[in-house]
Amino acid sequence: MSQSNLVIVYHRQPYEEVVENGKTIYREHASPNGIVPTLKSFFSTVDHASWVAWKQIDPSRKKKFDRVVDISDSYGTYTVSRLPLTAQQVKSFYHVTSKEALWPILHSFPEKYNYDPVDWATFREVNRLFAEAAVEEAVEGATVWVHDYNLWLVPLYVRQMRPDLRIAFFHHTPFPAPSMFNILPWREEIIDSLLACDLVGFHIPRYAASFVSTARSLKDVEILEETPVEESLTPCGAALSEPVMPTRLRHGGREIRIDAFPVGANASYIRELCQREVTRQREEAIRKDLDGKRFIISVGRTDYTKGTRDMLLAFERLLERRPELLGTLQLLVTSVSSNPGMSVYRNVQREIEQIAGRINGRFATLSWQPLLLSTRALPFEELVAYYRCADVCWITPLRDGLNLVAKEYVAARRGMGGALVLSEFTGAAVELSSAVLTNPYSTRAMDAAIDAALDMSEDEQRRRMDAMWKSVEKYDSTHWARHIVNRFELPRHANDAHAVAAE
Ligand code: UDP
Repeated sequence: MSQSNLVIVYHRQPYEEVVENGKTIYREHASPNGIVPTLKSFFSTVDHASWVAWKQIDPSRKKKFDRVVDISDSYGTYTVSRLPLTAQQVKSFYHVTSKEALWPILHSFPEKYNYDPVDWATFREVNRLFAEAAVEEAVEGATVWVHDYNLWLVPLYVRQMRPDLRIAFFHHTPFPAPSMFNILPWREEIIDSLLACDLVGFHIPRYAASFVSTARSLKDVEILEETPVEESLTPCGAALSEPVMPTRLRHGGREIRIDAFPVGANASYIRELCQREVTRQREEAIRKDLDGKRFIISVGRTDYTKGTRDMLLAFERLLERRPELLGTLQLLVTSVSSNPGMSVYRNVQREIEQIAGRINGRFATLSWQPLLLSTRALPFEELVAYYRCADVCWITPLRDGLNLVAKEYVAARRGMGGALVLSEFTGAAVELSSAVLTNPYSTRAMDAAIDAALDMSEDEQRRRMDAMWKSVEKYDSTHWARHIVNRFELPRHANDAHAVAAE
């Protein structure tokens, strides 16, 4: 029975599924950090909510599979509709079309774009199945909130099946310029679907503006309203600044709102973690291991977009350029593979391991190994202790929709110094203009940035960190949730008014 006023459509399930004593248990994530818990916080804003995700199922088990389950956890009671997909569908829709074709274009890596293996019919079919599952959950007039590019075609299917629903979409990635996006042969179908939404959201104004330019290059789209961007989201002269962005469009007799607001870090949880005794003990142990060496941390997934290779090369140059630093620094790099089965990521990992091995081979001594490479994910609660001990956090992706790690580092450094070296091409850079911003496409800029971070006076570190901390604390995950809830009120009213005017 459809019962939900809010249906979140996101490819990942909102819990950890574990088997205990032969029984499947749906366990709440141990850590409230990350995007899934942030989205679950929206459950409290409505009478009842549903979540639609996929689950890989062997076709022989499909008949017995409990598709829809009710879950109760600290976020309330909500319904989860699991779309059963075969291994073949998952591979085609997620690993091939989404990751090999769409992801490289979204991140402006056309050389990685692989068109040949794409089976668009399967992508369409999976998106249609998601839309069917979503509308089954939605009461009359409910909001269906779709997440991320792998579900780009869901909005139009939902609109066709249920014109009564309000449809919102949030992009967790960058959105590229039209000349890049339009490489995709399915560009019109994707844009048609996004224009079927009431609200299309992005992290930052630049991505929103690029989307609108792309839509206007392909479709008859009128800009009804443009809004100056708050200064805090468009630092003058930064690579991703965008002083004015379109906020209201008209297409096909409907109005579409455009929104840009970066997801925040869970600052209050990080604050709480920082105060825990276990965190203090971990910090003590890390500092003991460091034995007076300065500590640089670089945390990320294994992905060519994250620029880990270029950061490692900058570290190698640093040790060559400044021999006085030998023996005094410790770099910890986490490169965690989320798709180890894909050859493109295996190759990235291999290259990172080779460079890391070379650096240690060139510079290590019996008593000093300059670089630690971890390919395991560090539990968030441990990561916070590392953030607290890190003199420098070195985050230099070539492209990144946002980068939460940068915000988390700042959140963990309340009242402390420390320097954040941050790529200008991350969404977080528009908010964190007091970081040492750098251009990862320039070796000279990368060298200057790490030098500036290592040579920065304590006073300047504190001044910059304080400015960034205030922003991260204010624009935390709760603030983002509040902002989005306010935005959800807008589209229906706008289109209702429009429909009344048209009658
Ligand atoms: N993370 C973690 N342990 C690790 C590496 C990463 O808990 O070893 C978390 C990190 O704290 C952050 C998230 O994974 O919350 C990564 O988010 P980000 O936006 O930086 O990058 P994404 O992987 O989404 O591109």
